[in-house]
Amino acid sequence: MEQPTVFHRILSHELPADRVYEDDQVVAFKDINPKAPTHILFVPKEFVGSVADLTPETAHLPGMLVMKAKDFAAANGIEGYKLVFHVGQEGGQEVFYLHLHLLSQKKLPEKKE
Ligand code: AMP
Repeated sequence: MEQPTVFHRILSHELPADRVYEDDQVVAFKDINPKAPTHILFVPKEFVGSVADLTPETAHLPGMLVMKAKDFAAANGIEGYKLVFHVGQEGGQEVFYLHLHLLSQKKLPEKKE
């Protein structure tokens, strides 16, 4: 594999992140530079660089990320939101590890400790 991306390093716990959800397929954490009151990134545990790199073997990943994001939104009372994939440098992609942005004007409920 090429150089690990910042998301590889977050998934392996080498770098900290404000994780809001995790299961065997995905990790979700707050974007470090939020563009909306709620801005969460959904990253699959299986590595693919970008939508542009999808193959028939990995074509399930974007749908899986959308399912996780919509379930997360529903569980947190977020009814309206945007889901975005940036594809390639010209599409605004900065981190070359497939991820889905969930953006909402509604704030996440505070975490209960
Ligand atoms: P993209 O432009 O689609 O590649 O999005 C990458 C996103 O990752 C940007 O919105 C960044 O703010 C976010 N980001 C970069 N580094 C970190 C980090 N260490 N923790 C959380 N989010 C990050």
